[in-house]
Amino acid sequence: MNFNKNLENIKTYEAGKPIELVVREFGIEPKDIVKLASNENPYGCSAKVQKAVCDIVANMALYPDDSMMKLKNMLSKHYEVGDKNLIIGSGSDQVIEFLVHAKTDENSTILINSVTFAMYEIYAKHVGAEILRTSSQQHNLDEFYTLYKEHNPEMIFLCTPNNPTGDAIDAGELFSFLEKIDNDTLVVVDGAYMEYARYKDSSKAVSPKELIEKFENVIYLGTFSKAYGLGGMRVGYGISNEKIIKELYKLRPPFNITTLSLEAASVALEDTEFVDKCIVRNFDEMKHYEEFANAQKIDIIESYTNFVTLCLNNSQNSTQLSDALLQRGMIVRDLSGYGLNAIRVTVGTKEQNTRFFELASELM
Ligand SMILES: *Cc1c(COP(=O)(O)O)cnc(C)c1O
Repeated sequence: MNFNKNLENIKTYEAGKPIELVVREFGIEPKDIVKLASNENPYGCSAKVQKAVCDIVANMALYPDDSMMKLKNMLSKHYEVGDKNLIIGSGSDQVIEFLVHAKTDENSTILINSVTFAMYEIYAKHVGAEILRTSSQQHNLDEFYTLYKEHNPEMIFLCTPNNPTGDAIDAGELFSFLEKIDNDTLVVVDGAYMEYARYKDSSKAVSPKELIEKFENVIYLGTFSKAYGLGGMRVGYGISNEKIIKELYKLRPPFNITTLSLEAASVALEDTEFVDKCIVRNFDEMKHYEEFANAQKIDIIESYTNFVTLCLNNSQNSTQLSDALLQRGMIVRDLSGYGLNAIRVTVGTKEQNTRFFELASELM
């Protein structure tokens, strides 16, 4: 049977290994498994969210409110933008899918960073668009501009802070760059980890409101999967001008967010105390990773997120190390698939991190 030709060279996205797989493959008890592979919030989610979800759990027979008015109102208050500037997706992943399908086809070019979020490329392949990458490992906007001038791409993805390297673009530099980009090119600013970056260094904080007031060709993406601790609920969003949002709506399936997810996200956004506390702890704990890297004489990329990238020495191999950790119940992300001899480790709770340091120093 023949399928869409565009699918031929797509490798299925490999998400962080679930705990269940380690239980099955290595016979380790779930309580002895630590998952630091998908940048989830190790402190879970707000207790207020849990209560709110329990309170409405009996309402499952009815379809969700497809206008998503409650969550849209909360988001528009939070970001000081209008309801019409918002689209909500099943994770910001789904908004990325809408964007690529809305803007590009097999004659298009999409410019991305050399090392960045894998889904940009996978969606580009759906439509047969060409992917063009920079050479610098961390976002270099001068290089982005040179490639933009040379190839005139239909679309540019900027991931700040970047996954899987953790570096962030200076907000002032981002705005100067956007000034030079023509309105025909759609620029996506993926801020999946922006809550962390904003806390660590205000010069990295990008305001979606300011972005969309200044530029009609830019969309900002946010998610509830990271700082808000709702990875299991699958809620993300895009903020842009009405015209772009309208195009994206043509691709949105009805009821793409469940009733429980809508409620969870609305309540999560209000519990700023919970999120703030998690972010403070995250950077307190990150210090121990910096100490660990120093002690092991390996490089750590300065991170504005809830994960760290540890760059191994030539005598070490990231695939072997992450496999050996996995056999001991410690799940981290091997970055060899991105061409890096490095591992990405989500900053966990104190207990989880201590376990990582014990196991990793034994193995390194
Ligand atoms: C996690 C992540 C997302 C999307 O997460 P969703 O769970 O789909 O909302 C998007 N971009 C980056 C860079 C991420 O790391």
